[in-house]
Amino acid sequence: SKADKKGQYLFYNNLISVQIMRKMEIQHELARALERGELSVHYQPQMSMREEKLVGVEALARWFHPSLGNVFPDEFISVAEESGMIHDLDLFVFRRACEDLYALSSNGEGALKLSVNISPVQLTEPEFFCDLVDICTSVGIAPERITLEITENVFIHGFDIVKPLFAKLRQQGFGLSLDDFGTGYSSLSYINSLPLTEIKIDRSFINKFLDFYQSDMLVRMIVGIGRLCGLVVVAEGVETKSQLDKLLNYDCDLVQGYYFDRPLTIEQLSEKVELCKE
Ligand code: C2E
Ligand code: CA
Ligand code: CA
Ligand code: CA
Repeated sequence: SKADKKGQYLFYNNLISVQIMRKMEIQHELARALERGELSVHYQPQMSMREEKLVGVEALARWFHPSLGNVFPDEFISVAEESGMIHDLDLFVFRRACEDLYALSSNGEGALKLSVNISPVQLTEPEFFCDLVDICTSVGIAPERITLEITENVFIHGFDIVKPLFAKLRQQGFGLSLDDFGTGYSSLSYINSLPLTEIKIDRSFINKFLDFYQSDMLVRMIVGIGRLCGLVVVAEGVETKSQLDKLLNYDCDLVQGYYFDRPLTIEQLSEKVELCKE
């Protein structure tokens, strides 16, 4: 009936305005989140497949707001990218993660590796390169311990801009990982034309590779190509033992996912590291 339609219309209209309001509030509040100390960093363990040993962590941004509660990165990273705040945000995460990891263990043999997400937006900021190097120097952490995770969106800037930047970062010692690998449309062409050290198979493939032949073959192929090209291959979003077993079979190098750990606070991570020592 007409009344129903109108009700529905109002309902959706309200739903949309609630979403818009939330986004506006996030935009507004994010601007001050850093100075108010509301942002923190969690660490998700990366395990080596062959030894089932903790070898590194991925740093993930977290935001707790007094009235909005926990806001997750999928909601605030895009806002930060649009507003330009991503620059300060990523540098905050980078510095904090370097400090935390350095405090956990200095650079010697067996020191945990660190992976940090870098937004494609900020990769082309002129000071960005120097900022990363300065932070490493001031904290005392070797760039060789750090892998920068970058998604294929980086190529909105064009290959000619990205390639020399990647080369410069590599020269400095940073590892370079292509994140969400397989979701873009030309992933394969990047493998042999960029100085990558790692590819990270997207969670959406790991989700379903036990159930769908096509995804299975894709995962198998990506691991194979990565390994043949001498890259570290990481699978993210591993949640079950059967996924793990199959990835081991395919000779994947590293796994990350709820099967082992959710992203941990630095306190939880250091407890885990202590336990591993015993
Ligand atoms: P991502 O880089 O692909 O990170 C992996 C995401 O998958 C994380 O979500 C992680 O918590 C989640 N995850 C890990 N294991 C599992 C699993 O077994 N099952 C499921 N269902 N999920 C799993 P999170 O922390 O919400 O981050 C979402 C995205 O936000 C990240 O995706 C990354 O693109 C971005 N992000 C997070 N922190 C930062 C940051 O500091 N800077 C930038 N630029 N982006 C960030
Ligand atoms: Ca990542
Ligand atoms: Ca990813
Ligand atoms: Ca992702």
